[in-house]
Amino acid sequence: MRKVLVALCFALLFTMTVTGQAPQAKTTFSDIGSSHRAQAEIYYLVEKGITGGVSSTQFAPDREVTRGEAAAMLGRVLGLDGRKKSTKFSDVPATHGFSGYIQDLVDRKIISGYDDGTFKPNRTLTRGEMALLINRTFEFGGNSISVATKTLMDKGIALGMTDGTFGEKNKIKRADFAVFLARSMNADFRIPENERFTVKMYVDAGSDTLNFRSGPGTSYPSIDKLTTGTVVLYAHSEGDWAYIQAGTKTGYVHKNYLTKTKPVLPPSPSAPGTNKKLSDLVVIIDPGHGGSDPGSAGHGFLEKNITLNIGLKMNAYFAKTPIQSKMTRTGDTYPSLGQRVTFARQNKGDIFVSIHTNAFNGSANGQETFYYARTAATNPHVNASKALAIYVQNRMQEAWNLTDRGVKQGNLHVLRENSMPAVLAEVGFIDSAKDMQVMGTEAGREKMAKALFLATLDYYYHYESRQDVLPLYDTVGGKPSARRH
Ligand SMILES: [Zn+2]
Repeated sequence: MRKVLVALCFALLFTMTVTGQAPQAKTTFSDIGSSHRAQAEIYYLVEKGITGGVSSTQFAPDREVTRGEAAAMLGRVLGLDGRKKSTKFSDVPATHGFSGYIQDLVDRKIISGYDDGTFKPNRTLTRGEMALLINRTFEFGGNSISVATKTLMDKGIALGMTDGTFGEKNKIKRADFAVFLARSMNADFRIPENERFTVKMYVDAGSDTLNFRSGPGTSYPSIDKLTTGTVVLYAHSEGDWAYIQAGTKTGYVHKNYLTKTKPVLPPSPSAPGTNKKLSDLVVIIDPGHGGSDPGSAGHGFLEKNITLNIGLKMNAYFAKTPIQSKMTRTGDTYPSLGQRVTFARQNKGDIFVSIHTNAFNGSANGQETFYYARTAATNPHVNASKALAIYVQNRMQEAWNLTDRGVKQGNLHVLRENSMPAVLAEVGFIDSAKDMQVMGTEAGREKMAKALFLATLDYYYHYESRQDVLPLYDTVGGKPSARRH
């Protein structure tokens, strides 16, 4: 009982001394509304008499904290009486409002003055200095700013900055000081363990921007857009959504777009190979399936054999040109889908062509070409992929003249996870008697290989505006298609 009275007395004393205003029965600050981030902490401290407003109606949350004010607040936390007294500092006379707190805190080795014998009570405090004072006041341990800031972060009292620092040189604002004090005094205010942003990660959204949302889902509004390479701090996941801190904001991003290692920025998605010499261009040929995975089957044929056969023939066309071609497999083996994508990237591929045959109970036929149009993951080369798909489909039609099933969007691993323009060609249906009339012959497959070769030239010529591919058409007696993309 006695203790409560004492505390009240000092709350009165403080408010009168600092602001010259009499305290009201229930304090409400017009600048601390219910949505203010530090609302609960500020009123908690006001109720406890640790701090007050700058007037009866204003708290001034963004005002910086002086060393004198900090000493007074910390002194009240420690239950010191704050009675004015003479100090050893030339600039803090006994009449100074905070002289008692300042001298008592100096005696307790929580705060110190300057070598010139001054205390500089009106000097504003940095976040680092505050961390040190709080650590000493609450005896958290740590006598350097770096240890003190880490301790506050570990305890869920303070958040670090996304650049890995604590922002220790920045000035501390009254609202933040209140938050740190309240969290130090009462663990209920601390940041829950799983909301502490402790894991450093990077945004990897290719050349696109990543929506940073207020909640874990696309229905929540975007609060910012993050670019590839942005450093974020990760706290926890909710389903596919990661709760992160980016800059000073906290919110959610889809976790597919975060990596632990610094991403390499992809080349411009508009024209990846434009600046390269012809001989530096690399076309990745990906014969579908292989080894233990035969793919589809029909009319005595296996998809894996047809795709490899066409792939090898396509490869031979490039061998007569300066353009390099690399095959994800050259025999009856099965590289995983992930390995095919990795192979393409490691071989610095510029475009990726995956060859497949279709099947549908013998009841469908025709040709189609897929590209990835971005619904969930990484390949940013949408326009280039679509253009390549258009030229591939066109040349496939020209070669075999089967039913035109068109250019389609497909969420397929080798397209989606790729880092270059990528298409997947379904050259025909292996279980269609009609399609197999051409697909089942060497001459037919030779035509398809040549078609795929010409399609890549068309892409380079029209989409990347490369004149230097023109002579390459001569190697097969061909010429560019019409512009189609
Ligand atoms: Zn297939």
